[in-house]
Amino acid sequence: MNTKEQIWSFLDEVMDPEIPVLSVRDLGIIRNVETDAAGTTVTITPTYTGCPATHIIEEDIRSKLKEKGVANFTIKTNISPAWTTDWISEEGRKKLKIYGIAPPEESTPDKSLVSNKPKVVHCPRCHSANTDMVSFFGSTPCKALYTCRDCKEPFDYFKCL
Ligand SMILES: [Zn+2]
Repeated sequence: MNTKEQIWSFLDEVMDPEIPVLSVRDLGIIRNVETDAAGTTVTITPTYTGCPATHIIEEDIRSKLKEKGVANFTIKTNISPAWTTDWISEEGRKKLKIYGIAPPEESTPDKSLVSNKPKVVHCPRCHSANTDMVSFFGSTPCKALYTCRDCKEPFDYFKCL
């Protein structure tokens, strides 16, 4: 039988399909891990519901636990409360920046959508606030494409939810 700590460390090896530097643990989508005599229960809250990655993540968790020889596990999906970008760990935010993606700037929801007031997004490379949104949809629907007016580099911004 596996301990909770072991299960958490296995889950730390499951990477987000869209942002391969972030584990599902960094993303904060693992809500709970329970182990008892009957087996292991992992509770996940999927990220963006419209995101095609959601299904892949569950499959990846399944195959990782199988690979590690975890017997009798169940993956439960909990959609309430909904996942928000606030759940991304500090460690995860650091990794995002290193990867060149600007982490979400403020708590949910993304008010700039309704207020038309442009959100200040900091460039992950030079930390300048002098940035422009090029496209609301970046390389994936979860990201927006920005460009930095100081270092002239385009970058992805992880949209807030
Ligand atoms: Zn810059």
